[in-house]
Amino acid sequence: MELTRRHALAGAAALAASPLLPNSTAKAAAPLADKQAPSFYRYKVGEAQVNVISDGVNTFPLGDSFVLNVKKDEVSAALDKAFLPKDRMSVHFSPLVINTGGKLVVIDTGNGPGAFASSKGNVGQFASNLTAAGFDPKNVDVVVISHFHGDHINGLLTADNTLAFPNAEVLVPATEWKYFMDDGEMSRQTIDRMKGVFANARRVFEAGLKKKVTPYEMGKDVAPGVQAVASFGHTPGHTSFILSSGSDKVFIQSDVTNHPSLFVANPGWHLMFDQDPAMAEATRRKIYDMLVADRMRVQGFHYPFPANGYVEKDGNGYRLVPAPWSPVI
Ligand SMILES: [Zn+2]
Repeated sequence: MELTRRHALAGAAALAASPLLPNSTAKAAAPLADKQAPSFYRYKVGEAQVNVISDGVNTFPLGDSFVLNVKKDEVSAALDKAFLPKDRMSVHFSPLVINTGGKLVVIDTGNGPGAFASSKGNVGQFASNLTAAGFDPKNVDVVVISHFHGDHINGLLTADNTLAFPNAEVLVPATEWKYFMDDGEMSRQTIDRMKGVFANARRVFEAGLKKKVTPYEMGKDVAPGVQAVASFGHTPGHTSFILSSGSDKVFIQSDVTNHPSLFVANPGWHLMFDQDPAMAEATRRKIYDMLVADRMRVQGFHYPFPANGYVEKDGNGYRLVPAPWSPVI
């Protein structure tokens, strides 16, 4: 107690005596800040610029079936090993804005304004962080959608159900479009969650966008230097992308894995949102083996912000090595 107090007094005296801090008196009564800085982060891939724009984080109690083929205790142990709370999950969301030099390209749009309101701002931050990062949604040329889950498509609309990117062409995977717009497929759904995915996709694309979308094929460029790569399993038309400029590349994985501490470490674990878990696992192993072999940078929609790094082999799974934060671009 005494030591601490004397130490603090000495510290205050030293500050007061510092010639560099002429007016420094202790401001201990200043309130604690209650907000994080707007979360965006930029890096270059060749001549292109990648802007990672956070949509926020959703935290919820860990359920029994978050991982389908593993007991909850094992999931808790993996969270604990990663220095995360054992009893809850935090799912992160990171849409992208890529400036290719010629085009401004958005990849996925976050949870949207409805989720922003209902979560009191924890998710659905993409629109406000986009503005904070200096972008005007009117200047976006292309919006590319990886798959039709709500955390990727709901940001296509504003709170008034108008177009969030009024001048952009909206590109969707052809396979995903065909599947989710098929009334027969919709009528055959038995699980409530899947019925909800269909209903939400119809809400956004039919009621909202009036079906004004351009379906794209796998292997084709969706924007200059951005190639669509089939990574089916999470959904029937789930798509990843390779952004290339010169000899530089980044693999934009979308939802090949969810949280890396669970699913990069354990590629055999089946996330409850993987529609075809076996296919999703096969895709995950194939892509992660490729990332290891090619030492390619990877950007992950559900990785913790700023959601990119490199992958190495680790036991029976892999390990994500986050890229160091750079204060300059
Ligand atoms: Zn997702």
